[in-house]
Amino acid sequence: MSGLRTLWRTGIMGRCPACGQTSMFSGFYDMHERCAVCDTRFAPSSGDWLGATAIGYGVGAVLAIALALVEVVWGPIQRLHLDPMWTIAAVSLTVTVVSYRWSKSVWFALLYEWGFMAQGDEPPGPTAS
Ligand SMILES: [Zn+2]
Repeated sequence: MSGLRTLWRTGIMGRCPACGQTSMFSGFYDMHERCAVCDTRFAPSSGDWLGATAIGYGVGAVLAIALALVEVVWGPIQRLHLDPMWTIAAVSLTVTVVSYRWSKSVWFALLYEWGFMAQGDEPPGPTAS
């Protein structure tokens, strides 16, 4: 159950996965390099952004497919006299951009659960002993 708690605390609330005392974010998208309370490093290596971006695009893609299905079945966008293609593209892009913060925090919650974060100057990664 600790994994679920981390997902909630870090993935939804954007808080430090280790202590939950402070926010991981210094701005809307910008993250602190390490926790001010427990010194956990949030970004062990540069490739970690990839997963967050992948989740973000995934959310946008799922939404686009869902909207397309709704449009095909009920046609609500055409009833508003809007172009379905551009409406779906614009809505998905907006949601992807807005949800990127949550994509990022969910991804970093997972990284923490998988042991990719280290405290202080310890080397990160589950293979480090
Ligand atoms: Zn902390």
